[in-house]
Amino acid sequence: SVTSLLGPAQIRELAEQAGIRPTKTLGQNFVIDAGTVRKIVRQADVVVGERVVEIGPGLGSLTLGLLEAGADVVAVEIDPVLARLLPTTVARHLPGLERVDDEPTADGAPVVRLRDAEGHDRLTVVLSDALDVHVLPGPPPTALVANLPYNVSVPVLLTFLERFASLERLLVMVQAEVADRVAAPPGSRTYGVPSVKAAWWASARRTATVGRSVFWPVPNVDSALVRLDRREPPAIPVTRGEVFAVVDAAFAQRRKMLRSALAGVAGSSEAAVTALVAAGVDPQARGETVDVEGFARVAAQLAVVAR
Ligand code: SAM
Repeated sequence: SVTSLLGPAQIRELAEQAGIRPTKTLGQNFVIDAGTVRKIVRQADVVVGERVVEIGPGLGSLTLGLLEAGADVVAVEIDPVLARLLPTTVARHLPGLERVDDEPTADGAPVVRLRDAEGHDRLTVVLSDALDVHVLPGPPPTALVANLPYNVSVPVLLTFLERFASLERLLVMVQAEVADRVAAPPGSRTYGVPSVKAAWWASARRTATVGRSVFWPVPNVDSALVRLDRREPPAIPVTRGEVFAVVDAAFAQRRKMLRSALAGVAGSSEAAVTALVAAGVDPQARGETVDVEGFARVAAQLAVVAR
């Protein structure tokens, strides 16, 4: 088993040895607190032998926590220095693993695996921008667990929910504000595009607040954990693309009533009113009061007219 998780001293040492200077543009704030790592792993309900995808493993804080819990991890990292260092760090903590330099993925991303004595893969490192990953090596993952890079956290969530239908659960650490937006119910102040789009795929709730001191370097925002559980999309005959186009239009001008906000996608304000009424949504309402089912009904009405 893992002898220890990474603390402040080990994180600094690893960064120093590898010559890593954390960059803001890649959201590189590394977790230096084992308690936070264990909380994330616990809230993800990771089970032994489960295939888990981690985005942005960084120096390996969370990766080691996931491996300690018995998960097999496929980790996608954009920074080549960090991706190269990760198998070495993990091999040092989990003795007996053999390193295999694998074929690139179908997306062309380099892959390194660590397998145990039985030939079973415990860690697979994919060097890539997560948003460019369309295929993951190995068995389909059932959970995504990550301390997400803040600048791409919402796109990563939505992209992985869409591309990897095998994902049942996601437990991610994001900027506190983003957590609020993703988990917001209709009618609340923070309800917006990320809330509706996340609700198309999953039910989301904010499960914890995380202070700044668990990171190195210390970020200038608070963080929070969000748990998403996949659900069936609304049972309405409409595509994801049609619904999301209506959602984007509805929130593009936040203060506008839906009848004018949707005039563009509907063709005219009159057509928007007809579709809204047929969908059972008040044309005078604003986007922030409509739930994902409401948007799906409106999109279905507009799609019927367009056909
Ligand atoms: N998981 C580590 C931890 O908890 O200490 C690091 C988390 S750090 C907030 C975000 C990580 O995501 C960094 O390692 C960064 O290099 C990586 N990253 C940033 N943008 C990425 C992207 N588009 N695709 C994959 N990894 C990315």
